[in-house]
Amino acid sequence: MPALAHIGLGFAAKKIVPTVNVVLLIVAAELIEIIFMTLWAIGIEHPPDAAAPPYSPYSHSILMGLVWSGLAAFIFFLVNRKLKISLLLGLLVLSHLVLDFIASPKSAFYPADTGLPWFSDYTATYGLGLWSNSMVAWFGEIGILLIGISIYIITVRKLHNNKNRILKYK
Ligand SMILES: [Zn+2]
Repeated sequence: MPALAHIGLGFAAKKIVPTVNVVLLIVAAELIEIIFMTLWAIGIEHPPDAAAPPYSPYSHSILMGLVWSGLAAFIFFLVNRKLKISLLLGLLVLSHLVLDFIASPKSAFYPADTGLPWFSDYTATYGLGLWSNSMVAWFGEIGILLIGISIYIITVRKLHNNKNRILKYK
């Protein structure tokens, strides 16, 4: 799975939550992928395979996407007690589901991909299927990544300039 677009969204989120480290933002945007990788490593989930559904109900279902987003916001709030930032981080986790919904089934990358199930019933799946076309898929992945990195660089430069200005007038 290229999953570059999610990384782009993590970078871009720096503009909205500049006080949060960009690594944490990227982890939030990719949390559902990280959960998938972990479950794959221990043999519970696997990439799309028409012969063996359900392949990723715990990471990439609509229901669990909502659960992981809420849980991430809740845990972050327990740690830092900042409600607004915690909610924004939860939304960033949710952005993975939203982006996957737009892209799935990603048959350009996974011929057997079916789209997102509500949970484990893969006879009914949802998604707009933009990534079924390989041109759209690659332009989408790389384009969103590059736009995200650009937004990040502009944001960090601005933050840096503001800091210098404040130091100068002290
Ligand atoms: Zn994903």
